[in-house]
Amino acid sequence: MKKYVLALDQGTTSSRCIIFDMLSGEPVATASEEFKQIFPHEGWVEHDPYDILNTQVSVARRAIEASGLSSDCIAAIGITNQRETTIVWDAATGEPIYNAIVWQCRRTAELCDKLKNDSSAEVIRQKTGLIPDAYFSATKIKWILDNLPNARERAERGELMFGTVDSWLIYHLTGKKVHATDPTNASRTMLYNINTLEWDRELLESFDIPRAMMPEVLPSCGIFGYTEKELFGAEIPIAGVAGDQQAALFGQCCFAEGESKNTYGTGGFMLMNTGSTPVFSKNGLLTTIACGENGKLAYALEGSVFICGAAVQWLRDGLKIINTAPEIEELALTEKDSGGVYFVPAFVGLGAPYWDPYARGLMIGITRGTSRGHIARAVLESMAYQTADVLKLMGEESGAEITSLFVDGGASANDLLLSLQADILGVPVVRPECVETTAYGAASLAALAVGVISSTDELAKLKKLDRVFSPDMTEEDRNARLSLWHGAVSRCSGWNK
Ligand code: ADP
Repeated sequence: MKKYVLALDQGTTSSRCIIFDMLSGEPVATASEEFKQIFPHEGWVEHDPYDILNTQVSVARRAIEASGLSSDCIAAIGITNQRETTIVWDAATGEPIYNAIVWQCRRTAELCDKLKNDSSAEVIRQKTGLIPDAYFSATKIKWILDNLPNARERAERGELMFGTVDSWLIYHLTGKKVHATDPTNASRTMLYNINTLEWDRELLESFDIPRAMMPEVLPSCGIFGYTEKELFGAEIPIAGVAGDQQAALFGQCCFAEGESKNTYGTGGFMLMNTGSTPVFSKNGLLTTIACGENGKLAYALEGSVFICGAAVQWLRDGLKIINTAPEIEELALTEKDSGGVYFVPAFVGLGAPYWDPYARGLMIGITRGTSRGHIARAVLESMAYQTADVLKLMGEESGAEITSLFVDGGASANDLLLSLQADILGVPVVRPECVETTAYGAASLAALAVGVISSTDELAKLKKLDRVFSPDMTEEDRNARLSLWHGAVSRCSGWNK
């Protein structure tokens, strides 16, 4: 029985590959490579699709070599990827007709502002679970079809293909045999109807996107196709595909309704599994497709915090009161609390649940006794407060009782942050041993599809916890702090209007 699964983790700044021994859940080899970010104009972000493909193939080869395994020992490949990033290519040659337009790219913001203010916003929300935004693929595809010569006519004739990064990789890894995506990636295009589980005719027509260029949507956990033999030395099934945040949710074993994970990276990404029915938010959370028990389709609520670990970077690079990000913990521990200082990192406005693009950062409660340690604590607390606001909203909207929060991402290495988080939430915060949850989630989906793992119950048994942070704060104290935090948030709202 083969037990190794190779995960391709195609991120925004680098391509990574991790080979896991799925019987132990342990990584056996890792490789990664950064690639070029292209900024043709202010606010525009592109990648060369061949950089994405070539770095991904090269790190996979390096990981196989480093593992010392023969590629015949690899049971399956799982793919996880930066979401929403849009590529259009020639169906005959596989050549892209334009660079990949990256999720961060704002070139279609004006069009999306118009959509936000007319009746289509509600239609889009009900069909796709999304709020019209330049972030999602639909307007990026439209831009390519509007701006490249003959593109729309060619797409109508079936000569062009659209794909998110997963589709682009699948197409090339299978030797141009398979043009497919999975429902988690499809649900980020703003063209996929998450109720009927199909590309939505009305939305395709409204964005003037020919149906013929859309990939087939196959289950996240299942065989998509086989890699060309010359790539890795064997024909390996691609058997699991999910967008990065959904893969992390699966990798954290949040298989059941009500289970959630938060990733503390540059920003914060929270996802909650809401089971077999989509929950449509009234307060700006996104509804999206995820993978649940035994890899089957489930729905999730998603909320993002724009500035999370980036506030720590600001202390390091802006204020220069720390030299490295982890030093914030040591500095914060020089004080027993924040000395009444509250910090709202609204550097670029505020996301869920405030949705205020005009809010700007604020620090309040400063006295002559305020120290660098108090400020460091206030910054860590702000990360915990913002996360608590999103999780509370998710709980209210889904009706789920929140009993714990699983965490990952760079800043989840910070013990003080996680104990503050447990205190502010009033529920345990759980950090797994393997923080490579994104790659592990993709590998787990593939392992389930080919039978290396028999069920999600088995995956749950394999999960090793590094540490559980239990709450240690009275409800009275928690409510008092939250009330001051919300007071600070209200004082910075609309500042830059
Ligand atoms: P991304 O994937 O968004 O680039 P990562 O998951 O790699 O982010 O996390 C990096 C972020 O975490 C940075 O913003 C950094 O400031 C922050 N960070 C890293 N280590 C720590 C730490 N020990 N304490 C607090 N923040 C940290």
